[in-house]
Amino acid sequence: MNAHHPTLTRLKDILGPKGWTQDPELIAPHLIEWRDRWSGTTPIMVSPAKVAEAQAIMALCNDAGIAVTTQGGNTGLVGAQIPKGEVLISTKRMTAIRTIDPVDDSLIAEAGAVLTRVQDAAREAGKRFPLSLASEGSATIGGLISTNAGGVHVRRHGMMRALVLGLEAVMPDGSLYEGLSSLRKDNTGYDLKQLFIGAEGTLGLVTAASLKLVARPRHMAVAMLALETPEQAVELLHRLEEETGAIAAFEVMNRTGVDLALKNIPNARDPFADKAPWLALVEFESASADLADQAEEALAGALEAGLARDALVAQNESQTKSFWYLREEMSACQKPEGVAAKHDVSVPVSKVPAFLRDADAAANKVAPGCRIVAFGHCSDGNIHYDVLQPSAMSGDAYRAILPAMNEAIHDVAMSYDGSISAEHGIGISRRDEFIRREPPAHLSVMRAIKGVIDPKGIMNPRVLL
Ligand SMILES: Cc1cc2nc3c(=O)[nH]c(=O)nc-3n(C[C@H](O)[C@H](O)[C@H](O)COP(=O)(O)OP(=O)(O)OC[C@H]3O[C@@H](n4cnc5c(N)ncnc54)[C@H](O)[C@@H]3O)c2cc1C
Repeated sequence: MNAHHPTLTRLKDILGPKGWTQDPELIAPHLIEWRDRWSGTTPIMVSPAKVAEAQAIMALCNDAGIAVTTQGGNTGLVGAQIPKGEVLISTKRMTAIRTIDPVDDSLIAEAGAVLTRVQDAAREAGKRFPLSLASEGSATIGGLISTNAGGVHVRRHGMMRALVLGLEAVMPDGSLYEGLSSLRKDNTGYDLKQLFIGAEGTLGLVTAASLKLVARPRHMAVAMLALETPEQAVELLHRLEEETGAIAAFEVMNRTGVDLALKNIPNARDPFADKAPWLALVEFESASADLADQAEEALAGALEAGLARDALVAQNESQTKSFWYLREEMSACQKPEGVAAKHDVSVPVSKVPAFLRDADAAANKVAPGCRIVAFGHCSDGNIHYDVLQPSAMSGDAYRAILPAMNEAIHDVAMSYDGSISAEHGIGISRRDEFIRREPPAHLSVMRAIKGVIDPKGIMNPRVLL
């Protein structure tokens, strides 16, 4: 579309000078994503500050049949927030925390509010918003809703879908879906808010959400364990959960990942000297003042039962941060190592060890000598399974076999009744494969919903379906 299209001129008039830009320098950071895998173009970036402005943008674009792509913090990992010629709608000026109610345990945040800001607001009110992930300093509520983000607390608190009480969204024709309820129970027909959660911006522009708060845990403890095998991780998870009832996060990292972090990430530390094949990071939370003792006791029992080589409980804030730092840098540590085939799969928790064993064999068949960084949210069966180019192979040669690698790893996940996208979504990176693998009946329901809500197909048109 031409940068002087009459609809763009009308958009500029409605939004005023602060609400749009066509300056290539200002737009550039919004056209490239975090992993540098996707880049895009747009004739204009618009940034509504009010719901009425967002409605006017959608109504104008819908009338003119002009497609839009919505972007929050631009931390999505499947390319869905990067426009390819569409009008780019940024939520960066819709950032207010509208209300917070510690008695109803709810908070209403606008779509562009960054997750850490929402966590802080909840904390200041004596409560907690329990979603937590490594991108929380940039990811926004609208993006987290639209990708149904997961993170490290899913086993205890659920994915974003479980944390949204209600929402407000501008529909493709500019009308407003008003549903900012704080009700915990509401059995009046279809739960329409769920349609927007995980929709990757294809059904509406989320402008605000009513979020579920929980009590702040009075006590926390974080431990790192050195393990021989993933089987031990699964057994440990259940044992520690039964004995403490307090597991908030249970993350694993394999040796290759830890070694690359030690090599490529400043200040990364393996707390153990003897290079264990796997590390598990366990976070406990509870209202009980005995939590630290309970955790120590449960860990000692696990060591005695031969479920770990070694265990360390963080003794202070800086050790806690250092344990989490190692886990959070598992993606970044791969960057200097060349090309990686990234997978965000899930399998039933009991199948994690079998998945890892079969996936290692499958990956080595496609690219003998490949380096595998496997890490993630073991407690909900979600493994980030990244296969790096073999040291002896060129990046270009490896790039050529990435589709075969993806296919092989996803076949293994599916053979254990798993998912090819546990928490990142489909976007454009997994779209073709999703359409090929998804049962046709599921696809036709999704297409029917899309056709009714967005008949002109203007919302994130290249994404998901
Ligand atoms: C370092 C790192 C760690 C991560 N860790 C995790 C993790 O542990 N778990 C996990 O689930 N994800 C993780 N992610 C990816 C995750 O999807 C995002 O961080 C987050 O959910 C996206 O939020 P965002 O505001 O950046 O959205 P964007 O990237 O801007 O957009 C993502 C999608 O949401 C849509 N969208 C954005 N705002 C709106 C809106 N207001 N209305 C409608 N559609 C909208 C976009 O069109 C796009 O489809 C990680 C990403 C990074 C970079």
